[in-house]
Amino acid sequence: MAETFKLTYATMFNPPEELHTRFEEALQKIKAGLGKEHGMLIGGKEHFATEKFEDRSPVNTDWVLGVFQKGSAKDAQAALAAARQAFPLWSHTPWQERVALLRKAADLIDQRTFEIGAAMALEVGKNRMESLGDVAETADLIRYACFQVEKNDGYVVAMGRDPLVGYTAINFSALRPYGVWLVISPFNFPTALTGGPVGSALVTGNTVVIKPATDTPWVVRMLADCFRDAGLPDGVVNYVTGPGSTLGQALIDHPEVDGITFTGSFDVGMKIYRDFAGGRYVRPIILELGGKNPAIVSKNADLERTAIGILRSAFGLQGQKCSACSRVFVEEPVYDELVPRLVEMTEKLVVGDPTDRSVYIGPVINRNSYQDYKNFSEELSQAGTILTGGKALVEGDFAKGYFCSPTLVADLPLNHRLWQYEMFLPITTIARVNNLDEAMSLANNVNYGLTAGFYGTNEEAKWFFDNIRAGVTYANRPQGATTGAWPGFQPFGGWKGSGSTGKNAGGHYYLHLYMHEQIQTLIV
Ligand code: NDP
Repeated sequence: MAETFKLTYATMFNPPEELHTRFEEALQKIKAGLGKEHGMLIGGKEHFATEKFEDRSPVNTDWVLGVFQKGSAKDAQAALAAARQAFPLWSHTPWQERVALLRKAADLIDQRTFEIGAAMALEVGKNRMESLGDVAETADLIRYACFQVEKNDGYVVAMGRDPLVGYTAINFSALRPYGVWLVISPFNFPTALTGGPVGSALVTGNTVVIKPATDTPWVVRMLADCFRDAGLPDGVVNYVTGPGSTLGQALIDHPEVDGITFTGSFDVGMKIYRDFAGGRYVRPIILELGGKNPAIVSKNADLERTAIGILRSAFGLQGQKCSACSRVFVEEPVYDELVPRLVEMTEKLVVGDPTDRSVYIGPVINRNSYQDYKNFSEELSQAGTILTGGKALVEGDFAKGYFCSPTLVADLPLNHRLWQYEMFLPITTIARVNNLDEAMSLANNVNYGLTAGFYGTNEEAKWFFDNIRAGVTYANRPQGATTGAWPGFQPFGGWKGSGSTGKNAGGHYYLHLYMHEQIQTLIV
């Protein structure tokens, strides 16, 4: 690969040619091995359940990608027991060794980027660059966690000595792992949002049980293999598959869980939060939830940047990003210039098989999302004006997948429920506003506060940062109005209903969440 090229969500629009060649080679290899059965990984061993489920591609539902285990409460118990058993050894492993092993896992992820990326394009329906980005981000999230532990010298800090007469006090503050950490991840960033939390939990000394989304067990198994192949001791990382409502719930309800990172929808996250509070005492839970992310456009905006930034964030991954730009508020004087431009550019976006180099928009994840798209389109066509899109694509190559046309909607009354609701689809609503204050008030008037974008002058951007209530904010960014965060550059997390901790993943304050403090006083 060209030495100087670093793949991130902001650089992915113009990659070197070699990246495409390697993706295509990996895709051929991956496609030749479809349909195999994959076990769960418990205590370092393959583990099989009596019931199985098929993982089919949203690109073409005739393609069976793999057969996976439908794990039960018994399997949840076995995975937690394995993680508990591995905890003493792992937590007492010097942090330098943990860091070295996790860096090895990150290197393996890098080495397998193209295979995992090709599998992800087939399993999630993500376009090739976004798929490769997800894998690259995973390795960087793990490396960032390693960097933080190193920078903080293992989180052991010498404290002051209390002024005792006749004695010497030695005081230390040490951050120490909680124990067994459960990581439940969503379908849309299956490796980054599994690998990031897993890397953070592990490098700080916790052991882990992973439960991926039922739509994406395959790439998460490939990720779990990277941790195993890096040489982590048996039981340090366990991987179980099965429905959230049964297997997931059994994990949540189990007293062996010492902490959770859940990334997913608001409703499921809030249920887990409440259920987890039913334990014997309060345990840490990191919730990364949904978004309803606005872009605000000032009359002074550069409309070329604005249009491309909005489009990328509205329709990247078919609008199925927690950070997707789903609301746009445009100041009156530029509305009539910006909106036709957005429509024209949207109509040029290529929808199709996401492994194809020319395709920007793949299918939505599953039958439910596809049906939701049709229902929302119908509702929006009655309540507002569909400027473009609004139709499921069913002809020819589209017939066997869940393909939807990217949709822009105007004239939707501002009190309509879909201004508040996270549709999680390629649908974005646009409103005309009289001034920036009105835009800000509308932008903040939702339950969520994940990401937000702004286009205008630098002075106005400062006002935007001061007033918007969101965890990740961007101004004048053509690479994405509300999407495209990268560890170390834009740590990622939400306010209000979008997240529980107020500390962003891939940033300065994140790793602390995986450890509790112990003060050690020794009198000599
Ligand atoms: P879901 O909330 O439907 O599922 C997330 C995970 O929770 C899946 O693994 C699911 O398993 C599991 N689950 C479901 N019910 C339970 C339960 N009762 N107990 C334990 N686990 C359960 O989310 P999606 O996968 O559809 O992901 C999309 C959502 O994630 C969107 O709302 C999006 O905004 C949000 N998200 C937030 C991010 C952030 O950083 N803030 C990043 C990415 C996504 P199963 O699949 O088997 O049902």
